[in-house]
Amino acid sequence: MNFQQAERINRLGTETAFAVAARAQQFMASGGEVFPFHLGDMNLPTPEHIVQAAQKAIADGKTGYCPSAGIPELRHALAREINQSHGTHYEMENVAIQPGGKPVIAKFIQSVMNEGDEVLYPNPGYPIYESQIEYFGGVARPYSFLPGANGELYLDMERLEASITPKTKAVIVNDLHNPTGIEHSAGELEKLARLAVKHNLFVLADEAYFDIRYQGKSRSLASFPGMAERTVILYTFSKRFAMTGWRLGAAVGPKSLIEIISKLNVNNESCSCHFIQHAALAGLQQEPAASQQILEVLRRRRDLAVEMLSAVPGFFCPRPEATFYLFPEVSECMRRKGFEQYKDFAEDILVKTGVSVCTREHFGRVLPGEEKKYIRLAYSGIDIDRIEQGLTALIAYGK
Ligand code: PLP
Repeated sequence: MNFQQAERINRLGTETAFAVAARAQQFMASGGEVFPFHLGDMNLPTPEHIVQAAQKAIADGKTGYCPSAGIPELRHALAREINQSHGTHYEMENVAIQPGGKPVIAKFIQSVMNEGDEVLYPNPGYPIYESQIEYFGGVARPYSFLPGANGELYLDMERLEASITPKTKAVIVNDLHNPTGIEHSAGELEKLARLAVKHNLFVLADEAYFDIRYQGKSRSLASFPGMAERTVILYTFSKRFAMTGWRLGAAVGPKSLIEIISKLNVNNESCSCHFIQHAALAGLQQEPAASQQILEVLRRRRDLAVEMLSAVPGFFCPRPEATFYLFPEVSECMRRKGFEQYKDFAEDILVKTGVSVCTREHFGRVLPGEEKKYIRLAYSGIDIDRIEQGLTALIAYGK
């Protein structure tokens, strides 16, 4: 058969970071030692009481279909939990459980965006936004970040505002941001909220890293005036409870939109895994000790990694208070080593040090006028002694 794929598939993107993992594997297979800073995954175990709750739920027969929007106990518990951390007023009907946080992106876009509508999204950013906007026939309009006085990145609000047109339907905001690790200030969030209200935009607040923070308190766009009625929160159990492979998350937002998203659940997966929802419920009901322990491990890794990356000649590495990503600016090192292309630089680092990293290019198309160069290191999938070994080699490489 002469197979012709559907036309829309040509617009579907992917996570090109998987190619970095494949290259690291290949390097390892040829005898090289790899320090995996490219992984966005976690190498920490899921807390024991969550594992036990899953086993009990299986033994208790929670293995059949369950309601498409999720088991009521979990929807209820999550609404209460989010109200406490966000200062919102959600009820069970504001929550639709999902098989991971990621599906919320496509379901939000399908629910609010018509073909030809424009959606603003962060670039650099999680590559699935651009992919899904274009796949469903929308126009993906990037907004970006600018280096401040100390080289730290902040939201390019002017560009964001200038990108709004009568066709703009929604804006995607990933405060506590992958890949940069940056956090929007209260003033920036307030401005974003005012823009959304003024231009009547829907908002996807991707809060995948809301609970991965080492100091201070996360703020949600959904808690600003006029925002709860237009915002869908992407919630995930992946990071906070080290449950990336269990696949559980939720869409939290206005009841009318959550009803639509639940209808998409019926059409897509019927329901999220029944017994995993009981395990997640145990996660929410536990003492916070287990997630605190996860955070403590991550904090120690961050402190060491930032200290060592700051010692790499030609690197400038800010110290984010949230996420498990570091996004050092590496323009000077790249220039000194004679590289213009990100992929050549990353390959040189891999071959000479074993350190495997993603670059800015893995997080959306590089924008015109972008001069500074960045790479991304994740410390969620690498132990502290390996961080030390890998970054010792990187410091030597930079000299
Ligand atoms: N949003 C962002 C910014 C992410 O980095 C990720 C995962 O890395 C997700 C959403 C989705 O995570 P999950 O589907 O595991 O909940």
